[in-house]
Amino acid sequence: MPIGRRDFLKMSGGAVAATVTPSALAAAPAKPRRIIDVHMHAYPATTVFADPIVNPITGAKSPIRNGAEHMEACIAEMKRWNVVKGIVSGGDGDRLKAATDWHDRDPARFVAGAGVRGSDDTPLPPLETLRKAFADGSIKVLGEVTSQYAGLPLGDPKYDPYLSLAEEFDIPVALHTGSMPGGTTFDPCCRTARARLGNPEYVEEALNKHPKLRLNLMHGGWPYLGQTIAILMLYPNVNIDTGALAWLLPRPAFHDILRQLVDAGFSKRIMFGSDHMFWPDGIGLAVQGVESAAFLTEQQKQDIFHDNAVRFYKLAEA
Ligand SMILES: [Zn+2]
Repeated sequence: MPIGRRDFLKMSGGAVAATVTPSALAAAPAKPRRIIDVHMHAYPATTVFADPIVNPITGAKSPIRNGAEHMEACIAEMKRWNVVKGIVSGGDGDRLKAATDWHDRDPARFVAGAGVRGSDDTPLPPLETLRKAFADGSIKVLGEVTSQYAGLPLGDPKYDPYLSLAEEFDIPVALHTGSMPGGTTFDPCCRTARARLGNPEYVEEALNKHPKLRLNLMHGGWPYLGQTIAILMLYPNVNIDTGALAWLLPRPAFHDILRQLVDAGFSKRIMFGSDHMFWPDGIGLAVQGVESAAFLTEQQKQDIFHDNAVRFYKLAEA
């Protein structure tokens, strides 16, 4: 969910902050499990964070001043929580380079994804650029695809050659689904964005035109949960992630979503994702969001935190 800080604070409206108390911010366990975060965002090293970065949940101020410091803070937070692998896409500026810079900083830890949109403001990169990156292995994921922000369904013909390329190279696609931060449609970036386009049912045409796709419905399609389940049921090549839900939603609401998905039989299709955006401490909060789900078995936690991502993204040495 690549967005502006002010927009996000507007969205959270302070209401969420009361749901995570300082006592919930427990230290990382002594022997943490190996975790894969499939929903991370990079910003170019030279991007200046002009405003103080305040975590919308904890209210904590961060000293981070630019994209380079953000990357280092995220790596430190990953080490703290034993997040051994992260799938990262650029959310600003030169999006492809932002992601590959993270990979180059720590090649064993990061898998670079192509964060693409397809709006007038943020056009799709040349197809040949991606072909080269998929061929040489510098980019291994097509996503986060934010077609909803462009006001388009994934089935729009504009995305067809990109999805065909993903099929050709066996590249998984990660799509933003669900909702967007409050006011997005009034932002000059995204005047054509529409809530209804976050409904996962809009992916059906793309899935049928491109039957070899592996598709991650990022943010689990929330709040269109029934439609997410309908898509998971019909399309075995679709998984979801917990991006943003696991730490920005009030915890009871997140647990309710997780429980419905698990009760419906999809514990092997849910992948842990933080979508920490500007807030490295969002990674730990998201880990705690899943760890604190008392209704999950140890095997289900292992699947969600690690094994499902290894299988879906075909990760080696994770
Ligand atoms: Zn997103």
